[in-house]
Amino acid sequence: MKLSDFNMTKEELIETAHKYLNESLMKRYDVVAQTGHDMYLVDATGEEYLDFIGGIAVNATGHCNEAVVAAIKEQADCLIHSSNYFYSIPQTMLAKLVCESIGMEKFQYQNSGAEANEAMIKLARKYGNDNFGPKRNKIVTAYSSFHGRTLATVMATGQPETAIQKGFGEVEGFKYAEFNNLESFEAACDDEVIAVMVEPVQGEGGVYPATKEFLQGLRELCDRKGMLLLFDEVQTGWGRTGDLMAFMSYGVKPDVVSMAKALGGGMPIAAICASERVMSTFGAGAHGTTFGGNPVCCAAAYAEVNEIIEKKLPENAKEVGAYLKEKLAELPHVKESRGMGLLVGAEFDSDIAAELKHLAADRHLLFTVIKPNTIRMIPPLIVTKEQCDTAVNILKECLNSIS
Ligand SMILES: *Cc1c(COP(=O)(O)O)cnc(C)c1O
Repeated sequence: MKLSDFNMTKEELIETAHKYLNESLMKRYDVVAQTGHDMYLVDATGEEYLDFIGGIAVNATGHCNEAVVAAIKEQADCLIHSSNYFYSIPQTMLAKLVCESIGMEKFQYQNSGAEANEAMIKLARKYGNDNFGPKRNKIVTAYSSFHGRTLATVMATGQPETAIQKGFGEVEGFKYAEFNNLESFEAACDDEVIAVMVEPVQGEGGVYPATKEFLQGLRELCDRKGMLLLFDEVQTGWGRTGDLMAFMSYGVKPDVVSMAKALGGGMPIAAICASERVMSTFGAGAHGTTFGGNPVCCAAAYAEVNEIIEKKLPENAKEVGAYLKEKLAELPHVKESRGMGLLVGAEFDSDIAAELKHLAADRHLLFTVIKPNTIRMIPPLIVTKEQCDTAVNILKECLNSIS
């Protein structure tokens, strides 16, 4: 039987899902995702949902972008996987395109955001070991950051005592400091610290953009102490904040940057980029991956990156994102709307985010909840001002219905 032969009711599907799927992330939306196009996620009955989640900041060019779909089909027809034992055009040309577009020298493939950050952590620790000896391997990260769900990235995530960290024991080598507080970072950077790792805009932790002074100060601090500056751009990368990478918006260049979410147009692909000097720390045998740089994922990413550049989606993100942020600020019960480009959060005067999310989904608008009082909107970068008006109006109706 083929998957397309299954003809189940929504209730049957949900019952089967509950029987077999372990739900470790969150309660799902009451929506069966069947197809998608542009800004819309479509369920099995053809109902369209205006999607301000975009696969969690993944579908930058919208659902089922034509160029991305064509690239996947074409590559799948000729070769699906060959491993990193061989050279290939998709892998090589994507690395070249990315490095040249963002002004980096070297590229290393990974499969997910957490894995890219894990590679970045490994690279920094080995760099410390090789240049300064085995004691210098600590990394300072920020409170309310999010860096992923592998054991090391969970510990890099500055959220002690939350479900993300609790119960998983210790991984040595991480210290936390206050985000946007340079003195706090300076104080944490003793002579065992080899790197500082931050998101230019904190995403999962509450949508907090770094100030320019903070990132410039970190750059200066790292240069002064011989430390590496690591940017986690898994969420901010590839157009979301108004430039190809957020570090370009800030004019602060990291030594290593990680990327994932929007890179593959929905296919699982991630990477780290670094200067040649730093990346050379990973000599033969020091790091690797079976799936990383898979040709189908690379083909999708190559098409996605070209679409992002050719359609000037970073510019759209900047303009429409500023508009969305302004419109959200005008809503009743909104204490603050904040963010950069199309990574936007709205904080309310009480803990109504979860209720709003369900009310909005019933009205066919999707967004995420990041705190009991804060929602986050991370739509595809093709979103228009009119679609933002629609979303804000639906949210207003929801707010009126609970207040
Ligand atoms: C989503 C995210 C990650 C984790 O990426 P996965 O692909 O889920 O492993 C890491 N860092 C940031 C900033 C993220 O937004």
